[in-house]
Amino acid sequence: MNSTNLSPATYQVDEHGYYGQFGGAFIPEMLHPNIEELRSRYLEIIYAPEFQEELQVLLRDFVGRPTPLYFARRLSELYNAQIYLKREDLCHTGAHKVNNTVGQILLARRLGKQKIIAETGAGQHGVATATVCALMGMECIVYMGEHDIKRQRPNVERMKMLGATVVPATSGSKTLKDATNEAMRHWINHPQETHYIIGSVVGPHPYPDMVARFHAVISQEIKSQLREKTGRENPDYVLACVGGGSNAMGAFYHFLDQSEVQLIGAEAGGMGVNTGKSAATTQLGKAGILHGSKTLLMQTEDGQVVEPYSISAGLDYPGIGPAHAHLFASGRARFYDITDEEAMRAGLLLSRTEGIIPAIETAHAFAVLPKIDFKTEEVVVVNLSGRGDKDLDTYIAYPY
Ligand SMILES: *Cc1c(COP(=O)(O)O)cnc(C)c1O
Repeated sequence: MNSTNLSPATYQVDEHGYYGQFGGAFIPEMLHPNIEELRSRYLEIIYAPEFQEELQVLLRDFVGRPTPLYFARRLSELYNAQIYLKREDLCHTGAHKVNNTVGQILLARRLGKQKIIAETGAGQHGVATATVCALMGMECIVYMGEHDIKRQRPNVERMKMLGATVVPATSGSKTLKDATNEAMRHWINHPQETHYIIGSVVGPHPYPDMVARFHAVISQEIKSQLREKTGRENPDYVLACVGGGSNAMGAFYHFLDQSEVQLIGAEAGGMGVNTGKSAATTQLGKAGILHGSKTLLMQTEDGQVVEPYSISAGLDYPGIGPAHAHLFASGRARFYDITDEEAMRAGLLLSRTEGIIPAIETAHAFAVLPKIDFKTEEVVVVNLSGRGDKDLDTYIAYPY
C-alpha cells in the first residue's frame, strides 16, 4: 500500500470510477462538491509520505498490525488442506473494520472536517468509527437500524461509551440499508463540515476504491507471511465472507491479477436463496443503483429494493460493492451462498477445533470449506474477519 501503482490494474477501478460495467457515482447535486473533493484528492492525500507515516504508526501501535497468519492444524486435518487463518479478529475493536476507519479519519482531518457520520449494521463499523473519533477528539454520529440496535446491544453500548451518538433508523427493514439511507440524508443536509465514513467497499466512487486500498494491507501481509511460512507468497485459495465486501476485497486485493489464486466469496443465503429470506446478492441480484453506485442488488421487477435477510447483521445488505459485482460477472471470483444453519454450525465447529469463536459473518466463510474438494498440499487462506463476542447470545440461542 505504499505507492499508487503497486497493485495490478485489470480488476481495479478505471479513471471514470467503474469496474467493468459497475461503479460510478450516482449522487444528488448537493453532494457533488464533497464527492468531487474526495475524488480529486484522495490518492494524493493518502499516499503523501507523512500521511503514510502516521497511518503506519496507528496500524502498528493502535490497531495491532500486522495481524498473525495462523496455521490451523486441526482444521487442516479435517478438510485435508493447508489452512491458514488471517487473524483480523485480533485487530483492535475485534474486526477488520478499523483498518478503514483509521485511514478515513486521517483523511477527514486533512480535508478539514470536524464531524463524522457513519452507518452500521452489526455495529462493528459503528464501534470502529466511534473509536477513531475518540482517538482524534471528533464528534461522531452513527446511524443504525432499529432492528440491529436490538440484536447487537453490546456494540451499541460500546459506541455510547466511546462518546458517539447512535441514531436509530426506523424505515424499511430497520437494518443496514436503512441506516445507510439515513446517513446519506444527513450528509446531504450538512455537507460542509461533515465527512461520511462509509464502512465497506460500497457507495459512490471513490469510496469503493478508497476503502479497498485501506484494507489492502490484509493481502499485503498475507503475501509476506506466507512467503515466510511456506516459501511461496501466493496461496491456492483465498476465502472471505461478503457483506458489502470490504474484508474480502482486502484479502483479495494483491491476488486479483494472480489468476492461479482462486478467490472465493461467501454470501448470506439466510434461510435459503429461494425462500425470500436471503441476502445472496450474486444469486438473486440484478444490475441497479444502490447508495450511489451501479452494482448488483436484490430488487423486484419494477426496481424496488428487496428486504434482505441474514442471521448475521453484518451481511444483511441487499447489494455488494461494485468491484465484487465485476469479479462475479467476469468470473474472476466465485461466490457461494451459505445458509444461517451452515454458518452457525461452522462457527461452532471453528470454536471447538481451533479455540476461536468467529463473528457469525466470518462463520459464513468457514462454511465454504466442506464444499470444496481440496488437495492435501493446497494452501488455503481464510480471512477471519472478526471475533464472535458480539454474537454469543445468538450462538447460544440457536437450535443446532
Ligand atoms: C462488517 C463485517 C463483515 C461484512 O462486511 P464486509 O464489508 O463485507 O467485510 C464481515 N465480517 C465482520 C466481522 C464484520 O464486522
